[in-house]
Amino acid sequence: MRLPPPEQEVAALVAQGRDGDPRATARLLSLVEAGSSPLRAVARALADSAPQARTIGVTGSPGVGKSTLVAGLVAAYRETGARVGVLAVDPTSPFTGGAVLGDRVRMQEHATDPGVFIRSMATRGHLGGLSWATPQAVRVLDAVGYEVVVVETVGVGQSEVEVAGLADTTVVVLAPGLGDGIQAAKAGILEVGDVFVVNKADRDGADLVVRDLTAMLRLASPGPQAWTPRVLRTIASRQEGLDALVQAAHEHHDWLEGSGRLRQVRLRRARHEVEALAEAEFHRAVGAALGEPGLDELAAAVADGRLDPYAAADTLVAAVARARG
Ligand code: GDP
Repeated sequence: MRLPPPEQEVAALVAQGRDGDPRATARLLSLVEAGSSPLRAVARALADSAPQARTIGVTGSPGVGKSTLVAGLVAAYRETGARVGVLAVDPTSPFTGGAVLGDRVRMQEHATDPGVFIRSMATRGHLGGLSWATPQAVRVLDAVGYEVVVVETVGVGQSEVEVAGLADTTVVVLAPGLGDGIQAAKAGILEVGDVFVVNKADRDGADLVVRDLTAMLRLASPGPQAWTPRVLRTIASRQEGLDALVQAAHEHHDWLEGSGRLRQVRLRRARHEVEALAEAEFHRAVGAALGEPGLDELAAAVADGRLDPYAAADTLVAAVARARG
């Protein structure tokens, strides 16, 4: 096994990343994705840097135009002078460790811009999925000075919604012709969306989506102190409506700060972060504890009615504690 890099090396990588060396940032993200020991060194090195970046989660069903929209969003932010980091999280692809964004042609206009960093994280089959890796990757991009971090997640499954919901501002993308109004209600994205984007506004049916969505949001009407979600139209393929999206994200951030909710959002993210790491550690420890009373053995005892599941769980927790102790 490779030895964990000393914290000084991580600190040096952070400094190089801050100076605009994308290879240093890429290396830090690889350490994050490697998990365990290397990730520990990164987490320790970054622990005392308070979050500065504005994080924007973008989610929506495949085909609604998310990657086109994110590319447009990056362009709109670049016009404001902000350095932008993009994490494209795809839980449906195998984990490859810094997958190449081969098919993300739209991003290529930003490929040579030193103010933009794009990384794809494909996490299928990885222990605990992306839940622990994504917040750490956001930390890295924040620490090396990206003022805006966009986290694009594919699909509208529950885990993707959760990841998107860990951002300061969550943008839910819909498009006409995909039955999205109904999907939105089902997947619980009405609750997490701060800004709703009806993309492909050049297509028939966009008005209908806007109308359905607005009606549904009104039904789920928040209290007087709460943020009123925005509903915007965009034509991402023509870079139309992106400035309004940046504006809406700014307004939402101002509201978060003004209302004290930013702290709540960041607490929620930190809680998730700690929990996800603890869970991953626990699973690792379960692996290490196997051979004591192994999980398979305990499962057999429960399945055969020799042991109740609670007692089995207690035995496992005790074995894990011994293995770690
Ligand atoms: P994703 O799967 O959500 O990331 O969607 P993509 O960004 O890959 O876009 C899916 C398809 O929709 C592509 O062919 C895009 O060119 C197209 N598309 C994206 N935005 C728009 C738009 O505003 N209008 C129209 N008509 N097509 C768009």
